Amino acid sequence: MSYQADITVIGAGVIGLAVAAEVAGEDREVFVLEKNDTFGQEISSRHSGVIHSGIYYLEGSLKAKMCIAGNRILCELCKKQGIGYKRLGKLLVAADEEEAGELHALLERGRRNGAPGLRMLSKQDLKKVEPNISGVAAILSPSTGIIDSHELMKYFVGQAKGKGAQVVYQTKVIGIEKIADEYMVTVEDSTGNFSFNTRLLINCAGLYSDKVAGLAGIDTVGAGYQLHYCKGEYFSVGGGKNRMVKELIYPVPSPKLAGLGVHVTLDLDGRMQLGPSVEYVNSIDYAVDSQHKSFFYKAARRLLPFIEYDDLEPEMAGIRPKLQEPGGKIRDFIIREESDRGLPGFINLIGIESPGLTASPAIAEHVGNMVKELLAK
Ligand SMILES: Cc1cc2nc3c(=O)[nH]c(=O)nc-3n(C[C@H](O)[C@H](O)[C@H](O)COP(=O)(O)OP(=O)(O)OC[C@H]3O[C@@H](n4cnc5c(N)ncnc54)[C@H](O)[C@@H]3O)c2cc1C
Repeated sequence: MSYQADITVIGAGVIGLAVAAEVAGEDREVFVLEKNDTFGQEISSRHSGVIHSGIYYLEGSLKAKMCIAGNRILCELCKKQGIGYKRLGKLLVAADEEEAGELHALLERGRRNGAPGLRMLSKQDLKKVEPNISGVAAILSPSTGIIDSHELMKYFVGQAKGKGAQVVYQTKVIGIEKIADEYMVTVEDSTGNFSFNTRLLINCAGLYSDKVAGLAGIDTVGAGYQLHYCKGEYFSVGGGKNRMVKELIYPVPSPKLAGLGVHVTLDLDGRMQLGPSVEYVNSIDYAVDSQHKSFFYKAARRLLPFIEYDDLEPEMAGIRPKLQEPGGKIRDFIIREESDRGLPGFINLIGIESPGLTASPAIAEHVGNMVKELLAK
């Protein structure tokens, strides 16, 4: 590894890799620094794997815009590059009349956001589409899908490297110092610590992105960058129930909930899982508490009466990097260049929770445009 970079990306999750694939090339020296042994070991491998359609997010938010654009770009990319994906469609199902009333507002929001093809299904329509679920009405979202996120990340790594970027593992960023019009980045690897200079620095450090911003001297609490960890557990559904639904099945989310509600996801092999739950935690621990089984069972039975208690087994857990405090207001992604904090050329991506996987190629384009402007100065 040489010691002068044009662009340094911190973090090799789906966001850092998509960004690196976008900004590499044009004779730029681009480094991607990752503290783990390989790419995608944290948030990007512990999620539902859903290509969202953009129904839920506040109008005009980055989440809404990047999700809608990301859905379109991802599906085209998957088709062209042979990355595993399926546009299964999704049903957002009201379990009772009260929830049915909320569907109309969600449908309107989804349409305003630009989610394609949304339509309302009556109880009878719903029975025709998914005879094994119970509900009084639903929104059908045909553009929702699932994706093999590992293949996607492998594609981004290949693109980044093919354009000349160096992806360096087991290398943790531990210091960032502004020196003249560059940044001195200090890293720790198996041989010790060393530093190099970079012109632009892009923080895609996922669960640690607030801490990385803090390394550069940003007051993360004052800036509203502080992350809260929010765990989501999954249970797998066995007992031969995998083929009982064809689509992804979601409940109507409660307005205060920090997630979308326990839903049914299917992977590309048709295996069914329930999750993720929502639990704010103080530390990162991926163990699934088997005592939570009855919560999942009750949540699932509202829409999926065929599920038996014994069908459920603990599967896995992921941690959301939430800007939203427990019980607090919903927050948007932060994607921000920090010139006004005296840190030109430092771009922070913080709070990239769901729909970050869906949005990844759109986020990369957005950051790519910021980089173009910065390098043209
Ligand atoms: C439970 C759950 C379900 C989800 N479901 C969906 C879904 O269905 N659809 C969807 O679109 N999105 C979903 N998401 C969101 C999506 O998974 C994330 O938005 C996305 O994976 C975030 O990627 P990332 O690259 O920002 O983070 P990460 O994948 O965590 O990557 C960040 C990387 O930075 C590295 N790093 C951190 N600090 C340093 C440092 N100091 N030096 C070097 N490296 C460092 C880490 O090791 C890590 O590899 C879900 C998320 C969760 C938690």
